[in-house]
Amino acid sequence: MSSAEPPSFSREEPPARWVVLVHGGAGDVSPERRPLHAEGCARAAEAGAAVLRAGGSALDAVEAAVLVLEDDPRFNAGTGACLDEDGEIVLDAAIMDGATLRAGAVAALPPFHHPIAIARAALSDGRHVLYAGAGAADFARAHGFTPSTTEAMRTELALQRWQEVRDKRAESGFAGGTVGAVARDVHGHVAAATSTGGTVDKRRGRVGDSPIVGAGTYADDGGAAISTTGHGEAFLRTVFAGRLSDDAARLRGVGGLGGAASDRLRAMTLRTGGHGGVIAVDGDGRAMVARNTPTMSFAFVRHDGADEWREAGA
Ligand code: ASP
Repeated sequence: MSSAEPPSFSREEPPARWVVLVHGGAGDVSPERRPLHAEGCARAAEAGAAVLRAGGSALDAVEAAVLVLEDDPRFNAGTGACLDEDGEIVLDAAIMDGATLRAGAVAALPPFHHPIAIARAALSDGRHVLYAGAGAADFARAHGFTPSTTEAMRTELALQRWQEVRDKRAESGFAGGTVGAVARDVHGHVAAATSTGGTVDKRRGRVGDSPIVGAGTYADDGGAAISTTGHGEAFLRTVFAGRLSDDAARLRGVGGLGGAASDRLRAMTLRTGGHGGVIAVDGDGRAMVARNTPTMSFAFVRHDGADEWREAGA
């Protein structure tokens, strides 16, 4: 892919009373597998929609959606996460509440089935935002989460990808299949969540953009809820999610967030060489998908006051 002329795609939905939008990772999924990824995203969006339909919070909805994707072995999060240079599963996740700016995150977490639930526990606990490595595992155990193992959570596909990279038959880099969710609830609050195994063959200790508030995950009722996917280092270096939320605050009531996201992706690629995708929901319930990678699976369910609309794609 040329970094000078990245392919670009964006779309934007009108305001909604409530809406949940999920992604299943930027990448280059083969045409045969795209419907499988879209279907996985659709199931996750329905889990979030069930929360919102019942009047639940955006925060509960994004957690519910990401939990479904962490259990789905097709995605690079929870079960099915990619492997690092030691062949181990090491996980990153974050969740943020746009009403209060409370956030919780875990980075370089050893195997646990539901990193997003641990991030949520950090948010609820409230003392610190981000726990890393062995300390994150201690925090999880202290909050009742049971550790798992790489063997229990590793899929054949993850092992095969890792082998290809180790044998130099494929490039290291983003695995595709990171997951995220953004939502707006009937109370007008937004929330965002992201969960990932990171990149294939990543160095021990590497942390990506996903668990970093303002880079891969951000939520502010005055701006937008945002989850990114793609070259984590590029999103980190451009403080992507926080800046796009500021764009959303400026565009509030006007629309055009899809265009703003495409502009930011283009600028990111030109400055850093990295590519990726992003989903967002602003405080008025406008949902937006943008990418400059060949694929990014997504699904949304939105309620406009009269009807529910749903769509999934890749
Ligand atoms: N952004 C993630 C990371 O760098 C990877 C991805 O989205 O595929 O950890």
